[in-house]
Amino acid sequence: MDFDLTEDLELLAQTTRSFAAERVAPHAEEWDREHRFPLDVVKEAGELGLLGALIPEEYGGSGLGNLAGSIITEELSRACASVGVTVSVHNSLVATPLRKFGTDAQKEKYLPRMATGEWLGAYALTEANAGSDAANQATKAVADGDHFVLNGTKLWITTGAYADLFIVFARTSLDDPKKKARGITAFLVEKSTPGLKVGKKEEKLGIRASSTTEIVLEDCRVPAANVLGEVGKGFRIAMDTLDGGRIGIGSQAVGIAQACLDSSLKYAQERQQFGRPIAAFQAIQWKLAEMATDIEAARLLVRKAAWLRDRGRPCSLAASMAKLSASTMANRAAEEAVQIHGGAGYTTDFPVERYMRDARITEIYEGTTEIQHLVIARQMLNAKS
Ligand SMILES: Cc1cc2nc3c(=O)[nH]c(=O)nc-3n(C[C@H](O)[C@H](O)[C@H](O)COP(=O)(O)OP(=O)(O)OC[C@H]3O[C@@H](n4cnc5c(N)ncnc54)[C@H](O)[C@@H]3O)c2cc1C
Repeated sequence: MDFDLTEDLELLAQTTRSFAAERVAPHAEEWDREHRFPLDVVKEAGELGLLGALIPEEYGGSGLGNLAGSIITEELSRACASVGVTVSVHNSLVATPLRKFGTDAQKEKYLPRMATGEWLGAYALTEANAGSDAANQATKAVADGDHFVLNGTKLWITTGAYADLFIVFARTSLDDPKKKARGITAFLVEKSTPGLKVGKKEEKLGIRASSTTEIVLEDCRVPAANVLGEVGKGFRIAMDTLDGGRIGIGSQAVGIAQACLDSSLKYAQERQQFGRPIAAFQAIQWKLAEMATDIEAARLLVRKAAWLRDRGRPCSLAASMAKLSASTMANRAAEEAVQIHGGAGYTTDFPVERYMRDARITEIYEGTTEIQHLVIARQMLNAKS
């Protein structure tokens, strides 16, 4: 067993950390305050290769894989969780299913643009009545000659206002609603497709610099050549993709928690009470020690899940465990970070209040904490002894 990163991955971690420290961290507070999506910096991340790590070299990416994707998302999220999720969605939820399930023509058309960040990706599964119950899709896709006509509204789509390519899930078996998961198809929909509109922009508790919008489809005609995978097999694609997505959100959570620890270590050594730095008090030392230990444990689970996925091995259980562990841990770390900062932590003078707001989402999207518990329990209960 080898816990060392390869030379390539170590270099990637250092490059991403420097980029995050120089180009992301100094602006994160301002982007959050202004609810501003930093398109220029996301594009710079693309120029650096951070949007092509899960895309094979033949399509212009580096093909480094899921472990690389995890490192990128963690390092970016340590600086700004909004940039972290934008890149994670692009890499894990769009580039990856396109690579795995796309035709040669689809891959040749879209992957090179995605590898450089010329095009950004979004994943449109959720609807008003299809959240945790994602198979309950109401968006319809009706075949019409060599096209499908899509109608419906997708909710809370990350990068919605800036994405150039959407993976949209819609119901193609309209005659038998009981088919649920078996009647869903995935489509590659370009932003410029007539009938696709960006709807309401959400005002959020956290990750305020990420774009979250409705996507409205009104008689949106998508060429049949843009079906991703097979007609009626879209739900399998959605779930396989979420395995990778959960590794991404686990990585985002680890990055946020690491930022909490970084700030707390600094503040605890600077802040004096009773004539000593508060770091001299055992109560504070315990908090720091527990945060550091929990972060390391969650990071190992996340990296194990990424390692399994890179080897093509089953990783649903590992990905759910990683997301559950990392997201709940990040929320605990953020609470402790605010506590260590005392009153200062409750103000916008320090970044920990932002980390606390940002950490919250990691327990909600790409499968809530409750759904992760279900996935993990079901896998154990269904396992043959
Ligand atoms: C900022 C943000 C960004 C997002 N980005 C995207 C995106 O890019 N693409 C996309 O498709 N979606 C996206 N989503 C949607 C997200 O994945 C869903 O919000 C999430 O899956 C939960 O669905 P819901 O909000 O409808 O909650 P619900 O499913 O209504 O759940 C409400 C509560 O009930 C619990 N619950 C539900 N079912 C069960 C059950 N069987 N057992 C126990 N408890 C249960 C849940 O855990 C939760 O606590 C985003 C959401 C947000 C807020």
